[in-house]
Amino acid sequence: MRNPFDNDERRAFRATIARFVKQEIEPFGDVWDEAGTFPWAVHARACALGLFGFGIDESYGGLGFDDAFMRTGSAEELGRSGIGGVVASIGARGIMVGLVNALASEELKARSLPEILSGLKGGALAITEPSGGSDVANMQTRARRDGDSYVINGVKTFITGGMNAAYFVVAARTGQVGVEGISLFFVEAGTPGFSRTAIARKMGWWASDTATLYFDECRVSASHRMGEENRGFLATMNNFNYERLFMCAQMLGMAKRCLEESVGYAQQRSTFNKPLIKHQVIRHKIADMSARIDAMEALINQICWCVNEGDMPVAEISKAKFFCSTNLEFVANEAMQILGGVGYLRGNSVERIYRETKVMATGGGSAEIMRDLAVRQMGL
Ligand SMILES: Cc1cc2nc3c(=O)[nH]c(=O)nc-3n(C[C@H](O)[C@H](O)[C@H](O)COP(=O)(O)OP(=O)(O)OC[C@H]3O[C@@H](n4cnc5c(N)ncnc54)[C@H](O)[C@@H]3O)c2cc1C
Repeated sequence: MRNPFDNDERRAFRATIARFVKQEIEPFGDVWDEAGTFPWAVHARACALGLFGFGIDESYGGLGFDDAFMRTGSAEELGRSGIGGVVASIGARGIMVGLVNALASEELKARSLPEILSGLKGGALAITEPSGGSDVANMQTRARRDGDSYVINGVKTFITGGMNAAYFVVAARTGQVGVEGISLFFVEAGTPGFSRTAIARKMGWWASDTATLYFDECRVSASHRMGEENRGFLATMNNFNYERLFMCAQMLGMAKRCLEESVGYAQQRSTFNKPLIKHQVIRHKIADMSARIDAMEALINQICWCVNEGDMPVAEISKAKFFCSTNLEFVANEAMQILGGVGYLRGNSVERIYRETKVMATGGGSAEIMRDLAVRQMGL
């Protein structure tokens, strides 16, 4: 569908990302996914395209401008690769650099942002704990003030990019129970008291490293507190908006990939003496998939327009997150059905996307929590 907000610059940026995906990710995706890892050089290549520099000053290696359409356009093209593990691993830095840029000290920004944004080093965001990810306000990890330091104790889990990252944004309780007792900290991988173990054997995102992080009397300088003490919850929630918008666009790309694969297969496969695409049931599946994709795309574009206007439509982003994941699940399911037995075989993007729909419905805010947030934002 034509996008009324498209322009030459956005088209050019998206084409660059699409080319990168086609040439430098897709041909190797299966091998990397099976291996559970991929060369670090891919991070640097992706970062060189400016994927994570939106809204960050050029002096730190950022782009010096922001554009929600370019953010989502690149996310869509990455999603279209159908290799979510690589996207998640590269993209882990994308969910923490905004917080570093907004809240870290000048010294930390000057030191870490150029390294993260150039792909030299990895970054990760550590919010979720073994006791739960949805109820962020109830987190158990603690940071106690001790002179010029904070001492962190606790465990974070499911942390994307956590095994390879050099820098972490870690949320910990510094005050009372609830939303007003949480602060954010910049923690470096080599800090005494910090350790990590890999989470293996995930349902999807195989190429991505996922970690459990342990903080045992982990001492960081007070200058590593990001933002005001006990004000980390709101900053975390604001940061989620960009993560969720990115994920919506990624899901749009994944759904488009499923549709493309379905149409391609239905055109070349014949049953009962005619191409699959000529059977009405299959044609209706294609129509249903396509209609849902159009709706996802229109919603994302409208949200991008609001964001570029300086408005952050939290309710709409929350609705879009579960709307996109519900539709992606539908589209991936139909695509699997159209591919028949072939869809069940490893090494095709529909099979991989089908497995990766669940993390899109849970990570970054589950479908249930998104519904709760949307209704709350509606003042109900
Ligand atoms: C592959 C992967 C990568 C991830 N990467 C990161 C990362 O980089 N950083 C990070 O911090 N976290 C990460 N996460 C964690 C993710 O954000 C959480 O899994 C998510 O927030 C849900 O938390 P939970 O798994 O603890 O589920 P829980 O909070 O225990 O919830 C379990 C189920 O109950 C539902 N539920 C919870 N409360 C309610 C309620 N009040 N009403 C109705 N239903 C409810 C939830 O929707 C969910 O379906 C990742 C997760 C995965 C799987």
